[in-house]
Amino acid sequence: MVTVKKDQFKVKVGNILNGTSDYEDIELIGYLNDVKVSTSGVEPQTEIKVLCRIERANHGVIVHGLLRSMWAGECSRCLEPAKGNINVEFREIFVTEPDLEIEYQLNGDHIDLTDLIKDQLILELPAVPVCNFGCRGLCPICGVNRNETKCSCKRINNSPFSKLNELSDPTR
Ligand SMILES: [Zn+2]
Ligand SMILES: [Zn+2]
Repeated sequence: MVTVKKDQFKVKVGNILNGTSDYEDIELIGYLNDVKVSTSGVEPQTEIKVLCRIERANHGVIVHGLLRSMWAGECSRCLEPAKGNINVEFREIFVTEPDLEIEYQLNGDHIDLTDLIKDQLILELPAVPVCNFGCRGLCPICGVNRNETKCSCKRINNSPFSKLNELSDPTR
């Protein structure tokens, strides 16, 4: 079991704010236990890696970089466990004064990337997860997993376009 460390995504930016350094490159690894949507999520024991550059901006700092992790969920077609990589590039600003247009705020001489990381990860979670794009799913008639078992059920095609497809299929 992974214990989520407090302040794991907190970064001191005092040197950037006071001009001692123009930018800083940082690498953080941590865990979050509440990154999920109804169909998938980042599990609490899954590593979240952040590689980013923090630069001075007009009223705060700009953070841009890459976020890497892995989502897990249930395949929407065959109901087996599904997982996939998350690789997302982000660029956000942290400001010193509250601003309605800007979501993230500096906290004295540091920034906390937790909310930014959560927001970015949630946007990347699949709403309809699949174990792989070729997944054949469950048979709608007998319910077998068609990736593992071949059943002899006849496929019913109720689509109103099926007749059209037949008409336009040159092999027929
Ligand atoms: Zn599947
Ligand atoms: Zn079947």
